[in-house]
Amino acid sequence: MTTVDIPPAVTSFLGREHGLFIGNGWRPGETGQRLVSTNPATGEPLATLARGGPGDVDTAVSAARAALADPAWRDLTPLQRGELLHRLAELVEAHADELSLIESLDNGKPVSVARAVDVTTTAKLFRYFSGWPSKFEGSTIPLSPRGGRRILNYTVHEPIGVVGAIVPWNFPMSMASWKLAPALAMGNAVVLKPAEETSLSTLRLAELVAEAGFPPGVLNVVTGEGSVVGAAIAAHPGVDKVAFTGSTEVGRLVTVAATGNMKKVSLELGGKSPHIVLPDADPTAVAAAAADAIFFNQGQTCTAGSRLYVHSAIYDDVMSALVDQANRIVVGPGQDPASQMGPLVSARQLNTVASYIDFGLDEGAKLETGGARPAGLDDTYAGGYFLEPTVLTETTHAMRVVQEEIFGPVLVAMRWTDVDDLIDKANDTPYGLAAGLWTNDLTHAHRIAAAIKAGTVWINCYNLTDPASPFGGYKQSGWGREMGRGVLEQYTETKSVWVNLS
Ligand code: NAD
Repeated sequence: MTTVDIPPAVTSFLGREHGLFIGNGWRPGETGQRLVSTNPATGEPLATLARGGPGDVDTAVSAARAALADPAWRDLTPLQRGELLHRLAELVEAHADELSLIESLDNGKPVSVARAVDVTTTAKLFRYFSGWPSKFEGSTIPLSPRGGRRILNYTVHEPIGVVGAIVPWNFPMSMASWKLAPALAMGNAVVLKPAEETSLSTLRLAELVAEAGFPPGVLNVVTGEGSVVGAAIAAHPGVDKVAFTGSTEVGRLVTVAATGNMKKVSLELGGKSPHIVLPDADPTAVAAAAADAIFFNQGQTCTAGSRLYVHSAIYDDVMSALVDQANRIVVGPGQDPASQMGPLVSARQLNTVASYIDFGLDEGAKLETGGARPAGLDDTYAGGYFLEPTVLTETTHAMRVVQEEIFGPVLVAMRWTDVDDLIDKANDTPYGLAAGLWTNDLTHAHRIAAAIKAGTVWINCYNLTDPASPFGGYKQSGWGREMGRGVLEQYTETKSVWVNLS
């Protein structure tokens, strides 16, 4: 096994005593305590982070409020704001190798995935949103005269103020950027809390934000525990909006905490996405796509195609090709270019996923493949959080493995024959984030796409996203949509101005 060389810039970054990034500079956390960030491939410490406290959130919010009042940020023209975002996109690209390696070491994912997905998405997001400040126009509304007075009525979009952004560990830097890019494009200031497992890439990104020329306080990063730092952001009276990505359970806590000062809330939450195969689909092609839809990013993707529904007519063919595909996936450390799947993010996540496999087996599911630690990893990785791609069959609708989000490389597969029953089952979970569908039958494709209650439906493709296309969930998968033009509404207040022209 050969792994990529770690360049001195990454080694020295990892070795730093990481602090909190507030007002474009580093400061220690108020508690003086440290958190350890672990390398999931080895289980060994990778770096240490400041364990922030509520007082640090106060300091970050004050820095953000000061930035909102600072002419260096407040008075920038829309084009100037766009230029800063564009410069940031270029800096992310210039540091792509370094950022990919940091993400891979901290999260576990293959460095090729970090490069092609996380880093590329981040740069694309900043570039896409760099165009919006100068184009997100208000409107002029044609109103009738009132009491003989002629009226001019127009709208303007203004920043909401301080945005609290709380993000998960599965795509650390890109999830942060999903919030950061539109928030900054619209002139807000941000207090960002990365997940405690994976804060490193966001800390490096913060330095690039300063290097791009964003004034002090526009972005502040407070590391620490969710129940302390995240909860303090959600409840803080100086935060005007909270943008959260994570589990539905924590999203609910954030929403309740945010009601204190009636913050605006947007939520991107969990999923249990149905992936549907019609009888006319090509079994081999679908098997490859279905494997990718669940095993990509070690199954730790909110849109993972985790419930596979295959028509009975081709079920056996699809499943044998899929199991074969799963068995051929190379699982290893993310820094080995041969690895297609890395370790899960943490021991805790590995235990959760392993427990779900046990629940499935206890409830009568059959283990077609996987379920164990892959063989053949060398001793350096003995403490890593690896799990084979896992496929469960003979699963029934009420089983926990079919109803609950596992957030790991575990696929549950079911046969179907009646399309109405299929649609009922596909929709019968608390989630509604995404769905996939494989067929060349146009009538069924559009009928099923219309009937599925999910924010994204992919037909003959899966897991595609773009900064220009809205993304978000129905039901308990979230509130609001990220990306595209629509997200700008979530980072602005709209003011209606009435002028008496008489
Ligand atoms: P999580 O909900 O445990 O944590 C998310 C973030 O919230 C972390 O930064 C965490 O520290 C913080 N947090 C924890 N407790 C908090 C509290 N009481 N108050 C405020 N913040 C708190 O989720 P996770 O385990 O990091 O990520 C996995 C989940 O995220 C999955 O459910 C997945 O589906 C979801 N997710 C959704 C999307 C989407 O776009 N819909 C994208 C990625 C992940």
